[in-house]
Amino acid sequence: MKYDYLVVGAGLFGAVIAQQAIENRRSVLVVEKRDHIAGNVYTENIDGINVHRYGAHIFHTNDDEVWSYVNRFADFNDYINSPIANYKGELYNLPFNMNTFQQMWGVTTEAEARQKIENDRKEAVEEFAAKRGVSADDFTPANLEEQAISLVGRDIYEKLIKGYTEKQWGRPCSELPSFIIKRLPVRFTYDNNYFNAKYQGIPIGGYTRLVEKLLEGAEVRLGVDYLENKAELDALADTVIYTGPIDAYFAYSLGALQYRSVRFETESLATPDYQGNAVVNYTDRETPYTRIIEHKWFEFGKDESGNDIPTTIISKEYSSEWKVGDEPYYPVNDEKNQALYLEYQKLAQNEAAGKVIFGGRLGEYKYYDMDQVISTALNCYRSL
Ligand code: FAD
Ligand code: UDP
Repeated sequence: MKYDYLVVGAGLFGAVIAQQAIENRRSVLVVEKRDHIAGNVYTENIDGINVHRYGAHIFHTNDDEVWSYVNRFADFNDYINSPIANYKGELYNLPFNMNTFQQMWGVTTEAEARQKIENDRKEAVEEFAAKRGVSADDFTPANLEEQAISLVGRDIYEKLIKGYTEKQWGRPCSELPSFIIKRLPVRFTYDNNYFNAKYQGIPIGGYTRLVEKLLEGAEVRLGVDYLENKAELDALADTVIYTGPIDAYFAYSLGALQYRSVRFETESLATPDYQGNAVVNYTDRETPYTRIIEHKWFEFGKDESGNDIPTTIISKEYSSEWKVGDEPYYPVNDEKNQALYLEYQKLAQNEAAGKVIFGGRLGEYKYYDMDQVISTALNCYRSL
């Protein structure tokens, strides 16, 4: 049988394309090299707890279309992410807000907090500008270190950003792009909501169930590596939607793009509560992991029947440099990698002129959140 679409990868991008195609009465074959669907948003239910196997996923969006789309396939709870930072035993609220400033400096008003940050910023800007040989007026932050100090001052940079970021990205903050940190809100109110998003929550029953619904009506083959069976699979469909790594598609012919990988160490504990919060970030350089996730708190410690769960499951996240064979998680969008990606994109455009379309976090080598992946997949299908 010949299909209208061959979708490579059963993650969110691939699943949304499949759903749209089925809705439009097209036939779809999805191939996935892992032994399960849902890509990195995969959750598995263990002892009543939905465990986020590839890292904590909190759905948040400002996009009305995306929100009403996902709500067709799942109900969402009203979880609001409010992580805690642990710096050598000192606890701070995240994201950076009046609670954090009060804990860090004892200030209680917006004016005091702004004054403290402005003093730090001024001093740092003079130092950075002198190093760069420009006047303080002409200085604009060019990397994550300069950006972070300008936004929240030196103390917060040193205690809550520097160690965490260098562990997560394996590079000095002075060599990282500033946009990474611009994701985090800075507020002068007492509001610990990690996201400035109109909508937020966790799909009740887990992400895997949501993706299962998206894939209804598509034929899904698990444990199939497209690149190892390319000719045979290509012959089965008119159009291929490829959501794996773009450089792997071209056999790394221009060199490998860099990714950050993550290793998760998951343990079940015979206690109802380990850390009292879903996410605790360890922001010092010495603790080898970046954060500990306690999965049950994404669903308020209750199982699907609303009962308290007597045990708990935690995952420690260790960040590492990716090498061929590891799971790629975070594209490293620095200048060097971005330039290489653009070269691959040219190859992809030639390929697309034939019949292959590249999408998703790995296919487009972009640090996309789930809502952006869904939105780009909906647009991609429209353009087909
Ligand atoms: P993926 O989920 O990676 O799916 C691609 C699929 O393709 C995979 O299943 C892979 O196995 C398969 N594949 C690859 N190559 C082949 C091949 N050759 N043959 C067959 N199959 C193949 N976003 C948020 O909005 N909120 C969060 O809180 C959040 N937290 C995150 C935490 C972590 C640790 C990470 C890494 C990401 C997080 N994200 C979060 C981002 C989110 O995971 C992504 O936006 C989304 O999952 C990307 O979907 P995708 O379909 O593009 O990619
Ligand atoms: N970050 C930090 N300290 C923290 C949390 C985040 O410095 O306690 C920085 C870090 O550089 C990280 C970026 O902010 O890469 C974005 O954080 P986010 O939580 O959005 O990362 P993700 O969800 O992608 O892991």
